[in-house]
Amino acid sequence: MNSQPVKGTHDLIGLEAAKARMIEEVFRGMAELYGFKEARLPILEYTEVFARGTGESSDIVRKEMYTFLDKGERSVTMRPEFTAGLMRAIVSNKLYATEDLPLKLYYVGPAFRYERPQLGRYRQFNQFGIEAVGLDKAEADAEAILLALQAFAMLGFERLRLKVNTLGDAESRAAYRDALRAFFSERIDDMCADCHERLRLNPMRILDCKVEADQEIAKGAPRIKDYLSAASESRFYKTLSILNDFGVEYEIDENLVRGLDYYSEIVFEVHATSKDGTDYGALCGGGHYSGLIEQFGGPDLPGVGFAIGVERIAALMEKEGLFDELEDRLDVYVMPIGEEALEDAFAITTQIRCLGYSAETPFAAQKLGTLFKKATRRNARFALIVGEEELAKGVAQLKNLATAEQKEIKLASLEEELDAVLGEEEEHHCHCGEGECHCHEEE
Ligand code: AMP
Repeated sequence: MNSQPVKGTHDLIGLEAAKARMIEEVFRGMAELYGFKEARLPILEYTEVFARGTGESSDIVRKEMYTFLDKGERSVTMRPEFTAGLMRAIVSNKLYATEDLPLKLYYVGPAFRYERPQLGRYRQFNQFGIEAVGLDKAEADAEAILLALQAFAMLGFERLRLKVNTLGDAESRAAYRDALRAFFSERIDDMCADCHERLRLNPMRILDCKVEADQEIAKGAPRIKDYLSAASESRFYKTLSILNDFGVEYEIDENLVRGLDYYSEIVFEVHATSKDGTDYGALCGGGHYSGLIEQFGGPDLPGVGFAIGVERIAALMEKEGLFDELEDRLDVYVMPIGEEALEDAFAITTQIRCLGYSAETPFAAQKLGTLFKKATRRNARFALIVGEEELAKGVAQLKNLATAEQKEIKLASLEEELDAVLGEEEEHHCHCGEGECHCHEEE
């Protein structure tokens, strides 16, 4: 039988899984600080949820969806992104009628796109994202951006660039699309096959084309700022002024259009750069949207949100050395010496776990040398050596594996002994964001 994973999928095991979890937990924690609640959504949706919700002109819907007929001959699709499904869920559950607006929801989990697998691009990957639905305010846009920046800073990214643009309201975009269509119609013969289709479906997407020759042509294209309605323009500058108030730097990038059709008004991306200033590309993309809830039969509610790709961020954190302190550590490796000590060693291990420290013990008597090798492989901080004679006296040897210091402890005071050496470690895990953390000084 084939033991390879499905093309474009990958296994994350041990430390690799911990890296993904760390990213997800930082974003999850930040979203909760900002008052967002979790939404756990189905992976499968009826195909029309994405076909219409994500937008027919998007690359995702045109060529990347995992769509199939289920046994009841219903066309279903494995989510390629979360926003359309979340909007469906808001309408299915009539959340707009029962909850205060804006509805603030976050999500995390796998998404599926049938793309050509390449470095950092998978067919199954993980996304985290937020959506704030039902309040058309510049403050809500700014809040989404601040949340993203604060989470990236907490992960340790130091050189972030926020790029923003506005796509205007429906009226601005219609006028701009007409202008783009007129401009590109005359030049389309020299452009790539995808751009031919973009011209037909949504000419704004041409600005996003990665083909160099096409980018060169697009440099002369009309600019959105000349087609913005007064309302869209003032909305955009209101958001920027809030960012200014918070000291957030940004760049206006007029070619930033985002790949999905539902965006309107402000769109943004957070980019990271290397120490020598190379742009690593977007870590996060999002923006304001409208019309989505209405498409599913709900009221006309706008929203703002962003999504991050967990694998992409993990790859950049690896490059930047931001995982260096992440360790797969064990607090205590309990070493039974002799068959007679096995049962007690297991009981002591369980007791240590109940005290909140991680612990392991082998279920067989082994040589001390073998046990120390295992403890080292397991990256244990301490070994607790439990010998038959010592057990009879109610004591054991606690050895610090980093310093080789060893001390006899009374098993009756195991909790105090472990708290004394492991308890204080807790302080170093503080996420207050301060370089020199002082959170625990008053305790
Ligand atoms: P999008 O929904 O296309 O705006 O993507 C949001 C984020 O998901 C991007 O910034 C990427 O980091 C990530 N992403 C999108 N497609 C893939 C993929 N095929 N493999 C890995 N990450 C992806």
